[in-house]
Amino acid sequence: MQNDSVILSVRRLTTQLKIGKGVVTVVDNLSFDLRAGRTLALVGESGCGKSMTALSLMRILPEGVALPSKGEVLYRGQNLLHLPERKMRTLRGSKLAMIFQDPMSSLNPVMTIGAQLMEVAELHLHLAPQEAKARAILALHSVGITSPEQRLSDYPHQLSGGMKQRVMIAMALLCEPDLLIADEPTTALDVTVQAQVLELIRTLQQERGTALLLITHDMGVVAEMADDVIVMYAAKSMERAPVTSLFDHHAHPYTQGLFASRLSKKSARAPLVVIPGSVPPLGHFPAGCPFHPRCPHAMEKCKKGDVPPAVLSEGHELSCWLHATDGGLS
Ligand code: SF4
Repeated sequence: MQNDSVILSVRRLTTQLKIGKGVVTVVDNLSFDLRAGRTLALVGESGCGKSMTALSLMRILPEGVALPSKGEVLYRGQNLLHLPERKMRTLRGSKLAMIFQDPMSSLNPVMTIGAQLMEVAELHLHLAPQEAKARAILALHSVGITSPEQRLSDYPHQLSGGMKQRVMIAMALLCEPDLLIADEPTTALDVTVQAQVLELIRTLQQERGTALLLITHDMGVVAEMADDVIVMYAAKSMERAPVTSLFDHHAHPYTQGLFASRLSKKSARAPLVVIPGSVPPLGHFPAGCPFHPRCPHAMEKCKKGDVPPAVLSEGHELSCWLHATDGGLS
């Protein structure tokens, strides 16, 4: 199933955390649309704001540390950032679902997986126990778990990593969500299991027309899964494009660094390429273009003020003085 209707419209999303005596911005003015049946990948190194973006959309930021996010997250005409928590709780786990790198952050270790799936079905779909059980069996079956009736009485610790991930996906998709957020869903798995789990997510997403926000640092996963990509660095979007345009013409020096390091990792003979330096710690993002201390093309003007946006082609935008309309010559 494929249609282009916008499920979630995110505008100028900004999230800040209180750290020590200061306030630091962890998501900076981010805008994008998530469409039915399509996958948007958020890419970048750890600490760039990808997961904070997901937690902001779901409103599950760390309590006592995060300030309320600003901007708009429009779902069916309502700004989720202003929705009462009670209504938000109803949406989470039903229409807006999330899967994490660690399945145990979603699964309860002291409940059987059957009880957990049935609880979701009873709570969100208002099913009677027998119907909830049938729904749970169906959900396990749909994620490729054999003999699902028998698995209902298993506890999470009795399952392999790949099986736990499948159960988490079954739980996330049980209520047929409009949006699925997957945060590094396969990073902790063996390579062969990774491929199976990604294939499963893609198949279920396409069958159901779910919008998928995929968070990853792995360009191989992006190539397999994404329709559109946003490359994030230091809480900001650096480059965004349809996936083929990004792979053919990545133009931002940070994106180029990500691609170069990926290629060198894939080929044993190629010299190892790494982006020099590291992502600055929270609260220490540099002024100007935040990538300038690591950028081989940095100019004086990159070190202060806003970087003007540039458009390379339809839907392909980036934030870099090299591509600004004056060509970065001044
Ligand atoms: Fe490099 Fe300057 Fe472009 Fe930033 S704006 S990526 S520092 S050239």
